[in-house]
Amino acid sequence: MTRQRSAELYRRACELMPAGVNSPVRAFGSVHGTPLYIARGEGAHLIDADGQRYLDCCGSWGPLILGHAHPEVLAAVERTARDGLTFGAPCAPEIALAELVTASYPGCEMVRFVSSGTEAVMSAVRLARGFTGRDLVVKFNGCYHGHSDALLVAGGSGLVTFGVSSSAGIPQGAVADTVVVSLDDDDALTALFAERGDRIAAVLIEPVPANAGLLLQRPEFLRRLRDLTREHGALLILDEVISGFRLGLAGAAGLYGVTPDLATFGKIIGGGMPVGAFGGRRDIMQRLAPLGDVYQAGTLSGNPVAMAAGAATLNLLADGRVFRQLEDLGQMLEARVAPVAAATGAAFARLGSIFWLAMQAPAPRRVEDVRREGMGRYADLHGRLLEQGFYLAPSGWEVGFLNAAMTATDVASLGDAVVEGLQRA
Ligand code: PMP
Repeated sequence: MTRQRSAELYRRACELMPAGVNSPVRAFGSVHGTPLYIARGEGAHLIDADGQRYLDCCGSWGPLILGHAHPEVLAAVERTARDGLTFGAPCAPEIALAELVTASYPGCEMVRFVSSGTEAVMSAVRLARGFTGRDLVVKFNGCYHGHSDALLVAGGSGLVTFGVSSSAGIPQGAVADTVVVSLDDDDALTALFAERGDRIAAVLIEPVPANAGLLLQRPEFLRRLRDLTREHGALLILDEVISGFRLGLAGAAGLYGVTPDLATFGKIIGGGMPVGAFGGRRDIMQRLAPLGDVYQAGTLSGNPVAMAAGAATLNLLADGRVFRQLEDLGQMLEARVAPVAAATGAAFARLGSIFWLAMQAPAPRRVEDVRREGMGRYADLHGRLLEQGFYLAPSGWEVGFLNAAMTATDVASLGDAVVEGLQRA
């Protein structure tokens, strides 16, 4: 493998953009070497600027459940784009996607589309505050909800990768009403509600925390959240930006039997285009402008091409076959990797097509329990896998994703490479 062309591009990029990138973890800061420049995606594979192929286990960080350049998604995009890229006025593709989302997701009676996961969560939090007339928002240590000021405390994703728990440039006042609690801690939550329950607008959680490793929660913990919020008149917001339409059409809500008041979506819902959404109870959603007094807007929100890509993707997921295929592939990978991981002091955490190699055992449930020392071992493993044509997220804090363009042979060879890497790294 050579990275000559990628390295050239990276050098140019670094002159023009901070660290050469437009999103921090892409810079390969916590793994070896320089980032690959991607020329093309083809099904399960990435092709880099030097013409080499990699099995893509990052999937653009989640959207590509069908793999790259799925013909039906591309056809929808091409067809729609021919009629114009954006109108700033209502269009039918918005309705098609809204129908698919509301028909699939528990308790989602109405939806509003935005252009990113960050916007979706930021807007849902504003709506929850406006609806309840309360200020406090509870979030969990290690959960990432995008980079809006109020939520950029104790986040996962790039924040843990770079060892900072927050960000400069955020005034204390912006996070003064954000309360951070540990995952998997029923007692802390019960105490918090006993003390300040009448001031809590919303509890916000990634039901499948996947931004500081994969910190799988006990279903009872999520149900406890539902009970406490309901008892105290607070809203429950499930951030399904990763889990939505990946674990099934009903997301983690369906899997765990926990119906939120509001949910946020991104990634898969846009089929690879910049789309986010938030939705939920009709009485809450009707507080949004122009019906209500909670303002929220967007020049490109609901743009036809992005809506068409999302709808084409959700239509391809509708019969459930993709989810079954991904579960089969996930089980296969787990059966190959988990025993070797355990034998080498690591653990393989997985839910459906989301997986994480924890460089410790057992796999933790809380970010406080994730050992930073394991990240060096991940970096070595990452380098080895890349050399053999497997592209994993360039950080040990990030999860991997399987996609429906992968074959059993692809996943078997991934399993073999991971096993060999674990034995050596
Ligand atoms: N919420 C979660 C759970 C996420 O994983 C992410 C991004 N990875 C976001 C919100 C923010 O989404 P975006 O990057 O599209 O702004």
